[in-house]
Amino acid sequence: MDATRGADDLTGLPTRSATTNWLTEHSGEQVAVLDLDLGGLGAVNISFGAEEGDATLRRVTGLLSAAAADGDWVARLGGDEFIVARAGADLPDAVALAADIRARFRRERWGPEASPVPLTCRIGIATGTDGPQLLQHAATALARAKASGHTETYEPAMAQSAAAHTQFLARFARGLESGALELHYQPQCTGEGDLVGAEAVVRWRDGDRLVSPDVFIPAIEESRLIDRLGDWVLNAAATQVQEWRSAGLTPPTVAVNLSPRQFADLEANVAATFAGVLAAHDLSPGDLEVELTESAVMPAPGEVDPEVAGLLALGVPLVLDDFGTGYSALASVTRLPISKIKIDRSLVADLSAESRSRVIVEATLWIAARLGIRCVAEGVETALQRDILLAAGCTEFQGYLFSAPLPAGEFADRWLAS
Ligand code: C2E
Ligand code: MG
Ligand code: MG
Repeated sequence: MDATRGADDLTGLPTRSATTNWLTEHSGEQVAVLDLDLGGLGAVNISFGAEEGDATLRRVTGLLSAAAADGDWVARLGGDEFIVARAGADLPDAVALAADIRARFRRERWGPEASPVPLTCRIGIATGTDGPQLLQHAATALARAKASGHTETYEPAMAQSAAAHTQFLARFARGLESGALELHYQPQCTGEGDLVGAEAVVRWRDGDRLVSPDVFIPAIEESRLIDRLGDWVLNAAATQVQEWRSAGLTPPTVAVNLSPRQFADLEANVAATFAGVLAAHDLSPGDLEVELTESAVMPAPGEVDPEVAGLLALGVPLVLDDFGTGYSALASVTRLPISKIKIDRSLVADLSAESRSRVIVEATLWIAARLGIRCVAEGVETALQRDILLAAGCTEFQGYLFSAPLPAGEFADRWLAS
């Protein structure tokens, strides 16, 4: 491993560009790429400070280096994302390596000696001879791993080759044009089940399948289609709110999700688009809110994305999504007028009488209350989770316990009917 080309200051590991070079050198050879994302590092930062977070990242580096064999490539892509790549490895080798890494994570005690915290690791695997393309494939698998909590393998069914990928994009583009996309709405409730908000989530009706955004968004994020999807979602949500109003219903603020990629694209003027859509549908900035992850809000430490600043200037409420999963999750909360944070469902899933996630969730709720920021718990599936959250001071809930996301008509019937 040559860590001198583009090494990461914190861990000494090679960075993304060095990884791309390494994969380019191995183009045409069989290679396995594991893309790893830590769950719970944000919580370490929140509870014990950035220094403990940095120390944790160095310990993860040690763990991965120990799991790696001679000649393996270990890198840090940034934040809490790492790569382990192995030349000559096929899928079974990669799966075994991933299992070994996860076992090492479980055996390790994370956080300060006195108050250990659970740190998990989600892994996306891609294997093949595609060189640097494997990095994108592994990221696609990782996106699914984050949702499932298990190790996921890149499924070539979606894009086996560059040609198939292009076909997939064309198919999605046709869907986008022919009205095959739908927004579903998931209620956000008080503990008693009273409606306080709704999140719009997109679905793609591809033939007779309803495709989840976790499947197609990673695939389109590398193309301009992500901007077109963003525009479609924004317009569809605005149209829906306007329609509900005309029908005499009183919809709550509807949250739309925006991809960090839309902000990375210089030509996509998110704030101006937003202003135009609101005006076209006779809505005010508080009728819709924007859900973003921290990487979109602050692309680099201390640096607020100008488009995000534009949205805030417009008066659009900003919601921090998947809170507790990223790195330095507190930076944007202290620097920006965030109106709401959403506690990630992986933390909620792990709430039980004596779980450590519970401590993290309680600390987050305490901090949010002190800063005057609303807090929604995501992925609430059981009454026990709701009760633990209620006892910790949480007042807003989203999850299957209350309702799954529903098609607009059903959402209106169940939640908006007079
Ligand atoms: P997210 O923004 O964190 O959305 C919440 C996800 O959690 C939704 O998955 C929702 O169906 C799921 N969920 C809700 N309640 C529960 C529960 O009780 N248990 C569990 N296990 N899951 C629950 P969905 O709709 O598949 O969306 C997945 C992700 O895709 C979203 O995560 C969001 O990041 C992205 N996404 C969804 N719609 C859009 C969109 O319109 N634009 C963009 N850019 N991204 C979107
Ligand atoms: Mg969301
Ligand atoms: Mg979320």
